[in-house]
Amino acid sequence: MTATEKIIDQMLRENTGTNMLDSGGAYGRSWEHNQNRNFADEPEAALDERGGVTINLYHWLVDRLDYDLVIDKAMEKWGSTGDRADDPWLDVLHEFPNELKRMGFEIGGIYGEGDPFITNTYDGEDALSQVILYHFGTLIEGTLHGPDTSLKTALSKEIDGRPFVILSIHGGCDVRGGYTQPRFFWLSGEDGTDIFNNAQLTLECCQCNARWDTEDAGCTWMGIESYYPKTDQLPLPEVGIFDYFVSDDIGGDAELVNENKDKACPHCRALNTLDVYPWPCS
Ligand SMILES: [Zn+2]
Repeated sequence: MTATEKIIDQMLRENTGTNMLDSGGAYGRSWEHNQNRNFADEPEAALDERGGVTINLYHWLVDRLDYDLVIDKAMEKWGSTGDRADDPWLDVLHEFPNELKRMGFEIGGIYGEGDPFITNTYDGEDALSQVILYHFGTLIEGTLHGPDTSLKTALSKEIDGRPFVILSIHGGCDVRGGYTQPRFFWLSGEDGTDIFNNAQLTLECCQCNARWDTEDAGCTWMGIESYYPKTDQLPLPEVGIFDYFVSDDIGGDAELVNENKDKACPHCRALNTLDVYPWPCS
């Protein structure tokens, strides 16, 4: 297990409490359900019997994140000592980028432009198996000032315009409470924007090779041909395969499941030939 796999596994099992906002409800708390799961053996995504899709959060995060133990431990220490000892962990998620700024680092948003920002996947289209909350930023090379610390030493080795997230996973039932201790990760991939593809999946039939993409967690699926209008932009340029693509969107009651509740290809109607997976990282 890599350090990233280990910490994400640990976060998914972390006891996020049983506070009054988080009654457990009819569905229970995710962190409790996760105790006996073996995330690594589970598929990347799943198509359910009603045609809904779910992205497995464990695999999705492991593919996108690179855990930094040194910075995370420094952030944890900063958040749990002095005046901050009694503050909730989510204050660290909110405040740590400002602390980095106070230390003299230049912090930006996407591509280093604008400001860092906080995203909760609950607020938009989302196919992840659990809600995540993160502070996204890009660490831009800046002028160091003030007394040296182990954190600064760690960061000074790393800064080269790298995107990062301070991530917390929702492990509870009610989305208002029940978040894990936030952790510090670098984003892998070209510019870190793969972290925003939490509602993006591809559906593929292994019988007829038809493919569709969704950007809204499976509410609408677009045939690849219509999504990439020019054939020279198709990601898989095998000759002959394009005849199979349907250009019409699969809309409304996407016929991914037939009257017998079997998963059926919307194009060739073959049974149980559909595979679903998140968009790959850049
Ligand atoms: Zn098919």
